[in-house]
Amino acid sequence: MTISEIKEEPCGAAEESTIEQFLLQCTSCGVCRTSCSFLDAHGSPDEIISLSKRDLFLCTNCGACKPACPSGLDPAEALLLAKQLLIETGQVPEQAAKALGSAGRFVQWGASFPFAHYSRAETVFWPGCSLAGMAPDVVLKVQQLLAEERGKAVGITLDCCADPVYEMGDLKAARKRAEAIGKSLDQQGTRTVIAGCANCIKVLRRYLPDLDVKHVLEVLPGKAAASLLPDSIYLHHPCPSYRFEALQGSARRLCGDRKIAEQGRPQCCGQGGGLPALSPGSAEACTRDVFNAAANLPLVTYCMGCKDQFLRQGKQAYHLLELLVSVPPVERPVSSVRKWLNRLVLALRARWR
Ligand code: SF4
Ligand code: SF4
Repeated sequence: MTISEIKEEPCGAAEESTIEQFLLQCTSCGVCRTSCSFLDAHGSPDEIISLSKRDLFLCTNCGACKPACPSGLDPAEALLLAKQLLIETGQVPEQAAKALGSAGRFVQWGASFPFAHYSRAETVFWPGCSLAGMAPDVVLKVQQLLAEERGKAVGITLDCCADPVYEMGDLKAARKRAEAIGKSLDQQGTRTVIAGCANCIKVLRRYLPDLDVKHVLEVLPGKAAASLLPDSIYLHHPCPSYRFEALQGSARRLCGDRKIAEQGRPQCCGQGGGLPALSPGSAEACTRDVFNAAANLPLVTYCMGCKDQFLRQGKQAYHLLELLVSVPPVERPVSSVRKWLNRLVLALRARWR
């Protein structure tokens, strides 16, 4: 099988039966509610699936509820499939439909010329939309570091993995996007993708299981210890890292000997899924939780989307990669126009390298 052959996604009757199975097995015990502020505020996942179409779209698909469930269920997947079912049956509430439309346009643009670019290389660095838009110089430095470390050319691939629509339940669109990505990677002879974003890893691994996908923090050499980090920091684990414990360990390793304060579990920055558009109050509460946990310590994260949100809410934050490759950290929020411009210039530079 080539990487362009896509894993089947349940749809229609199969999808309904997965949700029904979940509803039958879920005991409404509420244990998972302690792992999630959304469930805490809105009820157990079975109640939300059965009773509230609007609340369903507030789930950011972070995955924190899965390890919490004593019955071994996967509420995150059930909620995701329930969203998909509403989309496919045309029952999406108006506000969620608007958020989904805007996420779809973001994905579409990012996947199109002139923003998308594929290098002809066996191994590529895939920074993801946020890193490319916020810190293009970091992307180029990381590519160089990876090539030096591996002793061979490492290309840059710029495309959108479709996570913004995936998180909101449009699995059909995400699968279609992955199919196109798989074909383009095949055409360029790419077998290994080193990604700068855990959300990209989540989606690429789901739909392209034969592709070797790693997070850049897992492969950066230990010698790239964070020389610019202060002695004590707060390390924020972005919510997609719930799925990748080894990634959390890599982030700690790259912080070197610094004293690390952390929550012991990933935290939503407030930007996940359709949260900012659907419930700005909940999004702000998530951000506040991170700020409270960090207190006065410098806030270090490894998701550019999270860093962007922290800057927007008035707190300086560092992306671990900025510190590792010694590029001056982004200090102010970056406008949407600026991000697209950065992505355009990065795509041009990648084509000329
Ligand atoms: S996936 Fe995340 S946001 Fe959704 S219910 Fe589970 S813990 Fe809550
Ligand atoms: S998903 Fe699991 S933890 Fe959550 S209410 Fe159902 S049985 Fe309880």
